Amino acid sequence: MDLSTDNSIVSFMHCSRCLDEIPEGVSPREWAQLEAGWTNPGFQVWCKRHELNILHVDFEGVKHPATTHIKISPAISW
Ligand SMILES: [Zn+2]
Repeated sequence: MDLSTDNSIVSFMHCSRCLDEIPEGVSPREWAQLEAGWTNPGFQVWCKRHELNILHVDFEGVKHPATTHIKISPAISW
């Protein structure tokens, strides 16, 4: 199965503290300060604003299919 390079997220992850502090008129996407990356056991999402773990997945040594390239859109000029 080819994994899409489009945004296929059906449920976004948020830091609950960030959502508590979000200024009026600012969207969660604009307010988010999340970073994501590989860890020794798997994958982690981290809130930079609060220095808190949002998600840490342990792949338990199993390799999973992943797409790590980008789709070059004709609308984007470099
Ligand atoms: Zn936060």
